[in-house]
Amino acid sequence: MNALTSGLPTPPAVYAGCSAALLTQHGKEALLGPILDEALGCQLVHVDAYDTDLLGTFTREVPRAGTQLETAAKKARLGMELAGLRLGLGSEGSVGMDPATGLIPWCYEVLVWIDADRGLEVVGRAHASACAGSRRVTSWEEVQAFAAHHRFPSHALVARPSHADHSSIYKGIQDPDSLRRIYERARADADDGVVFLEVDARAHLNPTRQAVIRQAGLDLAARLRTLCPACQSPGFGLARRVPGLPCGNCGTATSEFKSALMACGACGHEVEERIVEASADPAHCPECNP
Ligand SMILES: [Zn+2]
Ligand SMILES: [Zn+2]
Repeated sequence: MNALTSGLPTPPAVYAGCSAALLTQHGKEALLGPILDEALGCQLVHVDAYDTDLLGTFTREVPRAGTQLETAAKKARLGMELAGLRLGLGSEGSVGMDPATGLIPWCYEVLVWIDADRGLEVVGRAHASACAGSRRVTSWEEVQAFAAHHRFPSHALVARPSHADHSSIYKGIQDPDSLRRIYERARADADDGVVFLEVDARAHLNPTRQAVIRQAGLDLAARLRTLCPACQSPGFGLARRVPGLPCGNCGTATSEFKSALMACGACGHEVEERIVEASADPAHCPECNP
């Protein structure tokens, strides 16, 4: 049993010995290569002949044109084109707030696997708490406090004069001497003596994101190891959850999930799996608790 992928479904031989393109400039091949190798016997071919920052940056100079999923798929197709391969993997992350409370910085990672010969797109996802954030600072003490709170120097920082969208930008700050020097320079360039600091969210400079990308890799690997019961294509898995779990008191359909819809991206075969709970808490019922 392999260390990274123990616990995943038994591997089919579908992708054994195959090569898949991965377009990245931020070291994602080192995170995802070993997982796909262990899980599928498939080798990632690293492609970097395209500037992925043209598709959007975390630091807002280039806004992302499409959705996170569309951008990940676009990266996969660009990589396939550049490498001349029929398989590709694209990765796109975003940082927002946690889905439960909306108060904690949260990292959402999406991976899109494209299999051109089978006409398949399979998605892997993971999300977890992020090391992210920003602050306008006016003293070296404030810089040090921000840096310590955001796990600098294991996580890199970005600095700008004055505000979040200033055209002068210092990315990938990774050591205290550079931080001090850049802080002084950015402050001198600021009309108001303020420096805008933020965590560098690029994957190669943010180990917290790296862990979530690996989780998304394992999610994708588990899907690719699950074959459709109807057509034997890889990638059979959760398509969506279906609401309507009946209220335990009066039987009214609630917004709680009653089942998970498993689907095949190749032939459209679907299996509805019931969720373990037989009924919803009346607290979620529109009749009992309007
Ligand atoms: Zn009810
Ligand atoms: Zn199928």
